[in-house]
Amino acid sequence: MNVKNAMEILVEEALNNYWSQLQLPCKCNICKTDVYAITLNNLPPRYISNENGLAFVKAENFDDQSRVNILNQIVKATGVVAVRPSHEIKPSS
Ligand SMILES: [Zn+2]
Repeated sequence: MNVKNAMEILVEEALNNYWSQLQLPCKCNICKTDVYAITLNNLPPRYISNENGLAFVKAENFDDQSRVNILNQIVKATGVVAVRPSHEIKPSS
């Protein structure tokens, strides 16, 4: 059986859209993936079984509340990674 968590797709899209606006001391791929993982852990998964399911979830995502919710979780996760990055950050002097 093949299912996908639609949140993975929605969060990835939102993260790519807003990445340049997020306040982080380091913006490497490790930190981006950390923000992605933390955001997904804090959002309830939405499992879908096929492409129609994805279209459905995407349409639902146009609803402002869900979009704001995803964005809020991304901002929260950004705060977590900013305070506690998972790798050493060299001070830029
Ligand atoms: Zn980094």
